[in-house]
Amino acid sequence: APVVVAIDGPAGSGKSSVSKAVARRLGYGFLDTGAAYRALAWLALDRGADTESAASVVALLDDFDYSIGTDPDGYSVRVGEDDVTEAIREPRVAAVVSAVARVPEVRAHLVAMFRSIAAAVDRPGIVIEGRDITTIVAPDAPVRILLTADETVRMARRSAELTDLAADSVGRALAERDRADARVVDFLNAADGVTTVDSTHLDFNRTVDAVITV
Ligand code: C5P
Repeated sequence: APVVVAIDGPAGSGKSSVSKAVARRLGYGFLDTGAAYRALAWLALDRGADTESAASVVALLDDFDYSIGTDPDGYSVRVGEDDVTEAIREPRVAAVVSAVARVPEVRAHLVAMFRSIAAAVDRPGIVIEGRDITTIVAPDAPVRILLTADETVRMARRSAELTDLAADSVGRALAERDRADARVVDFLNAADGVTTVDSTHLDFNRTVDAVITV
């Protein structure tokens, strides 16, 4: 079975770009688990489903034909015939994804999916990033990391290319999403055996080095 490097952390912690760089350096695959929750939220919006209704969201799982690549150098995300790689990054998706992700049946379905994607990767290992990878998806992974950074730094990194006004609203939306998500999975505190890497005072390359040396 491929070696799993499990990485959790809040929105804007740089998880995704750091995890990709780590995968590249190790010659491992990469799995962004948030993309699946986003894709299901996208499907809910596409179908006009009520994202606040657990039953409506669960009903979508039957024909949630999801696929994602595991190449850290570029992957596309598909739902059925639709390439949703870009669409799942839209604010309208981010605004409803937490509601979709708090439904237990959704989590069970996606966790099983992540495990089979990881088992099928055609490389010696896979870096999996999300909120519950170190605790639920791969609690037995030999390397488990919680990537953190102070909230102000996370907001600044996420909104570096935006105007002040847009940055402010992005920051608020991120903080709200973290608060909602943290009620479902605790990704703010490291579980037993999980190593915390705090990137508040590290640049990108040093953060990647810190993760690789864990
Ligand atoms: O990582 P990203 O910001 O793309 O995740 C989108 C959303 O998916 C999160 O806000 C959270 O609601 C959900 N998520 C989750 N568990 C994961 C990864 C993401 O609940 N392992």
